[in-house]
Amino acid sequence: MNVKRKPTRAVSIGRTIIGDGHPVVVQSMCTTHTRNAEETAQQVTQLSNAGAGVVRIAVDNKRDAAALEAIRDNCDANLSVDLQENYRLAAVVAKHVDKIRYNPGHLYHHERSKPVEDKVRFLADIAAANDCAMRVGVNSGSVDPAKVDQFDANDAISPMVTSALEHCEILDKIGFFRYCVSLKSSRPDRVIEANKMFAAERPEIPLHLGVTEAGMPPDGIIKTRIAFEQLFAEGIGDTIRVSLTLPQAEKHREIDAGIEILKDFAAGRVRSVVRFDPDRLNIISCPSCSRVENEAFIDLAREVKELTEDLKDEAITIAVMGCRVNGPGETDDADLGLWCGPNFVNLKKGEQKVGAFRYHEILPHLRAQIDELIEERKTSAN
Ligand code: SF4
Repeated sequence: MNVKRKPTRAVSIGRTIIGDGHPVVVQSMCTTHTRNAEETAQQVTQLSNAGAGVVRIAVDNKRDAAALEAIRDNCDANLSVDLQENYRLAAVVAKHVDKIRYNPGHLYHHERSKPVEDKVRFLADIAAANDCAMRVGVNSGSVDPAKVDQFDANDAISPMVTSALEHCEILDKIGFFRYCVSLKSSRPDRVIEANKMFAAERPEIPLHLGVTEAGMPPDGIIKTRIAFEQLFAEGIGDTIRVSLTLPQAEKHREIDAGIEILKDFAAGRVRSVVRFDPDRLNIISCPSCSRVENEAFIDLAREVKELTEDLKDEAITIAVMGCRVNGPGETDDADLGLWCGPNFVNLKKGEQKVGAFRYHEILPHLRAQIDELIEERKTSAN
């Protein structure tokens, strides 16, 4: 399909360039433990060989950071580092990567007494000194709470966009322009709205598109396709990631899916005639990363899907998250949430904790909560 892309500015990430009409770059993320440099370098190479233009690696602690040098030496891909609250690790890893991704919501929580401008300046100075690009990565499940408080509780979009715009302004004032932005949600309709709203305000900034925690294929690919096709049709999107819950050995399927969506769109084969319907069952599950503490998480995501096969017409959102870093927060908006620890799975109803159960015990408890929720809704409707 011949759609004119928005004229975003060029941002180089290692040997690749996003924006300014360059081909849309497909990205992915490693699921190996970052501290295991050998396995991580192997997965980076697999993802790169499959077509990933940039491969992201999570770094949460000094052991992860220490592995980056060996990972860099043993692969030939453009690397992005994903920082959570401990943003100071950027100083250790920046020389081994091409891009630094930070989440404004996480930056807010670390060193609360320090102005956010100082934290962003710290990152921007390190990025500039080490020839790195940056991504301001806003996620609907972890938005800066100060932004959430500014808007109506039902408005999930404005806090995300406001947070992204604030960080762009900070970076602009610092004089650092080599950055892109992402605004991700597990709901395609919100991804579309947030990105359109942002692009209307700052059309020159390259956008990294993604439906976060889209879940398992094929549902995760369908949700992603809905968002990407509508944004591509508006000329929005310079780089993409399809976030799918997959076993480690199948992670390349994220890239295959991204490439296929791009090819189909270019050929005019727009498939998402179906719109995302928030009034139907929606299972969201994270794509996993090095933070997963028990590989059983992937099986659990599949089992939750099987457990709910008969509930397709229920307006229920169930979130299955792989770790304690993002799990507790990213399950808050779901009707029922599971987040996985090393030995136990934590079950939540909305923001309330129901209990923690062993992996082999969790499903009956989840089903009981689902049935109870359906009954409660019937009672309140009568
Ligand atoms: S929820 Fe945790 S394991 Fe899953 S992708 Fe996010 S950080 Fe990684």
